[in-house]
Amino acid sequence: MNAAIVTVGDELLVGDTENTNATWLCARLADRGVTVRRVSVVPDDVGEIAQVVNEHHAAYDAVIVTGGLGPTHDDVTMEAVAAAFGRTVEANEEAATWLASHGYSGEDLDEGTTHLPSGCRPLPNEAGVAPGAVVESAYVLPGVPAEMRAMFERIADEFEGTRTHTVVVEVAEPESALLDRFETLRDRFDVRVGSYPGERVRVKLSATEATEAERAAEWLRDRSDAVV
Ligand code: ATP
Ligand code: MG
Repeated sequence: MNAAIVTVGDELLVGDTENTNATWLCARLADRGVTVRRVSVVPDDVGEIAQVVNEHHAAYDAVIVTGGLGPTHDDVTMEAVAAAFGRTVEANEEAATWLASHGYSGEDLDEGTTHLPSGCRPLPNEAGVAPGAVVESAYVLPGVPAEMRAMFERIADEFEGTRTHTVVVEVAEPESALLDRFETLRDRFDVRVGSYPGERVRVKLSATEATEAERAAEWLRDRSDAVV
């Protein structure tokens, strides 16, 4: 399974808010073996959100959209996702019933809180108010990180791919000195080799079999100035 993530919010594009939702979702999806192929950041703009959701829906198995669900003027994500699927936005009874049973009803609720794309599956917001929604294979989650996480965990088992096992070896050598060994690793073992230089080089060895990743890591540790 592969997926794309669309994070929505003007604040992300001016550097006011760090895009921790994208990082968190990437990690959770990777844990579940789902390959994340795109992370997009788009402004609070109906046309731009709809365009990206539409493109990603055509290209990937699932699209996760976060941010812009609230009732304020700048929250237009539901309208945009509805537009991407040629649907309208309408009051959703299931969402209203869930909110009523959790103490939110009538005049306490801002108008529009239960307005979701027609025919969607609403997703309850256990850590906040604004509900999420599933439209075909697009999942719309809140922007508030705690709400987004709680909602994702409710539906996490809808995301499943081939899990890989990763072993990290930290090497205290320049990356350029490791090129031949990387090539040998890829020839000899059924692993993907990732190299991430920093103070040391973090070499990530991933394989579908844990033993294969371990064997490759051992080979590299034996032949390098490995720290971990
Ligand atoms: P609400 O219902 O409270 O209005 P929302 O779903 O509409 O929430 P936003 O209004 O887009 O979400 O953002 C709410 C808060 O979450 C803001 O403080 C915003 O900076 C933060 N936030 C939004 N998107 C992200 C993100 N991708 N990473 C981290 N924080 C985010
Ligand atoms: Mg926003």
